[in-house]
Amino acid sequence: MTRLIFLGPPGAGKGTQAQTLAGHLNIPHISTGEILRQAMKEQTHLGIKAQNYVNSGELVPDQLVQDLVQERLKQPDAENGWILDGFPRKVTQAAFLEELLERIHQSGERVVNLDAPDDVVVERLLTRGRKDDTEEVIRRRLEVYRAETEPLIDYYRDRQKLLTVNGNQSQEDVTSELQQVITS
Ligand code: ADP
Repeated sequence: MTRLIFLGPPGAGKGTQAQTLAGHLNIPHISTGEILRQAMKEQTHLGIKAQNYVNSGELVPDQLVQDLVQERLKQPDAENGWILDGFPRKVTQAAFLEELLERIHQSGERVVNLDAPDDVVVERLLTRGRKDDTEEVIRRRLEVYRAETEPLIDYYRDRQKLLTVNGNQSQEDVTSELQQVITS
C-alpha cells in the first residue's frame, strides 16, 4: 500500500513525478492545484471561490481544499493508495489531514520532499507558461511556500515520515531516486 504526500517548492517537479509514479503504481494522483484549475475552467462554485487566490499566488482558504481532499480520499479508487500533490500546504492542513486519515483508516502515509534551489524553480516555471506563472505571481508563490509550506518539512521529519529526493537533476534521475527511496 503506497500513500505518499509530495512536498516541495513550485517548479520542483512534483506534478510530473507524482503523475509518473502514480502511473507505475496504478494509484490515483491527486493534485489539489489541478482540481482547482479544472473547477475554475468549469466555473463551478469551488472554481469561482478559488480563482482570485490561485491567480494571485495566494493559498485558497483551508476549508475549501480540506473539503475537496476529504471528498476525493473517500472515493473507492483511493482505497488502494494515492499520491497527494499540493496538499497539505500549511501546518493547519497537515493537522487536518492527520486526523482525516486516522478517521478513514488510511494512515501510514510517507512524505517525499522534492527539493530544488530557487533559481532553478523560477527558471522552470517561467518556461512552463501557465496562467499563474507570471514573474510576480511566481515570486509570491515562492514566498508563500517558504512561509507556510516549508515548515512542514520539520513537521514530518519530527514524525519520522520524511523522505528527501534531489529535484535538481534530470527527470529520469529524479524518478529513479524516488523509486529507490520509497522502496528502501
Ligand atoms: P505549484 O506547485 O506550481 O505551486 P499547484 O498546482 O500545486 O502549483 O497549485 C496552484 C495554486 O492552487 C496555488 O498557488 C494555490 O493558490 C492553490 N492551491 C493548491 N493547493 C492548495 C492548498 N493545499 N491550499 C491552498 N491553496 C492551494
